Amino acid sequence: MTASGLSVSEPAEVLRRVFGYDSFRGPQQEIIEQVTGGGDALVLMPTGGGKSLCYQIPALVRDGVGVVISPLIALMQDQVDALRALGVRAGFLNSTQDFEERRLVEAEFAAGELDLLYLAPERLKVESTTALLNRGKISLFAIDEAHCVAQWGHDFRPDYLALSQLHERWPDVPRIALTATATEATHREIATRLNLGEARHFVASFDRPNIQYRIVPKNEPKRQLLELLRTEHAGDAGIVYCLSRNSVEKTAEFLSANGFQAVPYHAGLDSRTRAEHQARFLREDGLIVVATIAFGMGIDKPDVRFVAHLDLPKSVEGYYQETGRAGRDGLPSTAWLAYGLQDVVQQRKMIDTSEGDDAHRRRLGSHLDAMLALCETVECRRVQLLAYFGQKSDPCGNCDTCLTPPESWDGTIPAQKLLSTVYRLQHERRQKFGAGQVIDILLGRKTAKVIQHDHDSLTVFGIGTELAESEWRGVVRQLLAQRLLAVEGDYGTLVLTEESGEVLGRRREVRLRREPERVAKAAKAAK
Ligand code: ADP
Ligand code: ZN
Repeated sequence: MTASGLSVSEPAEVLRRVFGYDSFRGPQQEIIEQVTGGGDALVLMPTGGGKSLCYQIPALVRDGVGVVISPLIALMQDQVDALRALGVRAGFLNSTQDFEERRLVEAEFAAGELDLLYLAPERLKVESTTALLNRGKISLFAIDEAHCVAQWGHDFRPDYLALSQLHERWPDVPRIALTATATEATHREIATRLNLGEARHFVASFDRPNIQYRIVPKNEPKRQLLELLRTEHAGDAGIVYCLSRNSVEKTAEFLSANGFQAVPYHAGLDSRTRAEHQARFLREDGLIVVATIAFGMGIDKPDVRFVAHLDLPKSVEGYYQETGRAGRDGLPSTAWLAYGLQDVVQQRKMIDTSEGDDAHRRRLGSHLDAMLALCETVECRRVQLLAYFGQKSDPCGNCDTCLTPPESWDGTIPAQKLLSTVYRLQHERRQKFGAGQVIDILLGRKTAKVIQHDHDSLTVFGIGTELAESEWRGVVRQLLAQRLLAVEGDYGTLVLTEESGEVLGRRREVRLRREPERVAKAAKAAK
């Protein structure tokens, strides 16, 4: 019998007797052996891969209390309840508790009556917490959502920086850091910031083969979504992500009015409503939650059949994490994203006006660029996505570009026409305009705004009638994605970049993606 209340001492036995599973998944066994043996580990595993057991089992096998640092305060109660139901002695300390509740858990910890203690990271800044930890025996530190320590990542939390002290204060206690979102850059940063120089790294495959990735140009997003749900996901549970609270509300109303069961979820709703909607999502079949990204972290619902994005996510890491909530049960699921020019304009604006220094803004800018590159790729989405996480793969046969390959075409001449229109506005007229006006000029439309600014007298007026307006929008998007064009300011005005000159000077060819017929038709039919 170990110090834990359970009379089992081998990882495989704990897996069977406590958790009721027959075999380990992926790299679980190796990770558990490493940590049980007292070594450090850095674990990169996709959502649903089974990270929790990687620290829960060593905590049960080793002497003392496993201390789990997690930012997911809202979920601690549920996690602890679930463990207690299995006979594991678990407790948590966070800001939601009153003094008496905290005192009780602290007493249990000090008396060695816990197997696992969940802590919010800010707790460690409090001297009384470190004093408490010094009074008990710690079997390991597990740092969950470890990407929160990385400034390069998409979910940085300053409190995580203090976790580097764990090693200095408790040099003999093994540490395991876990995350589901790690590019090479984030991965390296986690290792450095947490002093995990000696740690073994475990990288599970990030591929989620049952998820079908699809990215479509956005025309009428709500209608396009409705079409998707009606044709492929009637009666299915799913998550729809929107950027703003307002569009969350509107979309939830729209889906409800069209016969779907949909509820909103965002930080502006009171906590009771939020908890209720989350509980319904977990309990009921076929409920759709329309949410901001406030929803989903740590939610373990196996049969989410689709994740739809009506706005462009801010980073590939975020996108991957959000779409990863689909299909944890391994059954076919859809990750669907509609994105348009307006998304780029809006996000540029948010980046330009964001708090923080230039380095921070550059970081946000490169996250956006990577996301755009994924949207405009003519290659397999999965290949691109996995490459972003440093993993090589072959074309998957289960994404939109594999299923209906887009043609790529020589867009050098249209690109030149568009860029020279921007050039003329910028340099001849000292004016900046958004995509709408530039396209009107190319198409030779004598709108009131064109006449007002005398743009019909430009030599480029009407030189672009070979493409339709929607095609021009596609050209603009793709030039943005290739950084041959940039947007700035409140109105999303188009400006040239350093590289634009290479196209204008005919030193560079531009390859563009033509939307496959079927996708374009489906979008039209949805109108
Ligand atoms: P993550 O934290 O990586 O997103 P979890 O630890 O929540 O994943 O595990 C996801 C699901 O897989 C949970 O329902 C968990 O009980 C289950 N699971 C984990 N390991 C195994 C295993 N070896 N065999 C069967 N189910 C497992
Ligand atoms: Zn593919």
